[in-house]
Amino acid sequence: IGSNLTARLRQTAPDVQVRIFDNESLGKREHLDDFHGEFIHGDLRDRAALDAALEGVDAVVHLAADTRVIESIEDPAKNFDVNVVGTFNLLEAMRARGVRRLINASTGGAIIGEVEPPVHEEMVPRPMSPYGASKLMVEGYCSAYTASYGMHCVSLRFSNVYGPRSFHKGSVVAAFFKRILAGQPLTVYGDGTQVRDYIYVGDICDGIIAGLRSEASGAIQLGSGRPVTINELIAGIKAAVAPMKVDVDYQPFRAGEVYATYCDVSKARRELGFDPATPLSEGLSVAWKWFVDGRKTVA
Ligand code: UDP
Repeated sequence: IGSNLTARLRQTAPDVQVRIFDNESLGKREHLDDFHGEFIHGDLRDRAALDAALEGVDAVVHLAADTRVIESIEDPAKNFDVNVVGTFNLLEAMRARGVRRLINASTGGAIIGEVEPPVHEEMVPRPMSPYGASKLMVEGYCSAYTASYGMHCVSLRFSNVYGPRSFHKGSVVAAFFKRILAGQPLTVYGDGTQVRDYIYVGDICDGIIAGLRSEASGAIQLGSGRPVTINELIAGIKAAVAPMKVDVDYQPFRAGEVYATYCDVSKARRELGFDPATPLSEGLSVAWKWFVDGRKTVA
């Protein structure tokens, strides 16, 4: 998302200077094509490095997290350390420097848990995985720092994001594209009727930029607002990758995963003018094109 955001900012807000702070645990600096800003290799758990990186900064877009649900169930302490301790350090460093604007990347499905969708911001959170719990805690701190210290923190709850520059990602669209490129069958966990809300990364970047420009705070859900089953996603992927062959292997459903989630984006439309306009078919085609011939590096 960060590499797409820097490209989007260059096109739409060339006066904005971008400094990237990343430990390169997944995304690497070589994934940034045509980035002319400053890149600092550092970890959110290193307070001194954060302090230095925040010098002269007006606003922070916080996209660094361990977002893998299944891994968080296997190692909840690591997930807590990266997501909760890391974000707490960031908030403290921002407070010390007087940096007031924070866009915090959050999640709807994993925080809210298993409910009748569409999920929205007024629902009572019941996380089902340590990952969801970590994101809920972080939203709590963002809310507290807004109320206690006059910071402006908005938690944008992303649904399932896909698009170009995502080769290193483990989420389903990237995972499926990599398997197709490797000539392997797609693995579906369950019967493929599970529902997600797939949002094109360009739409997410527009939501982030709108968030930076707004006075909004609290939680705002960003997604396409459309429910899509895995089987429907695979039909879309088959159309995008044609004439390549796609085989599918069905495996048991994985415990800890939410079965069905998609979101209501009325609040984002109202408060941010958010308009997730990219159709899934178009987004999948653009993403596939990048996987085939746009990418310069393989992580
Ligand atoms: N999924 C799948 N096969 C894969 C990867 C994911 O069937 O190789 C399913 C997964 O069980 C879930 C959905 O795709 O229902 C979305 O998974 P993802 O890891 O993208 O993120 P989530 O939305 O669950 O956080």
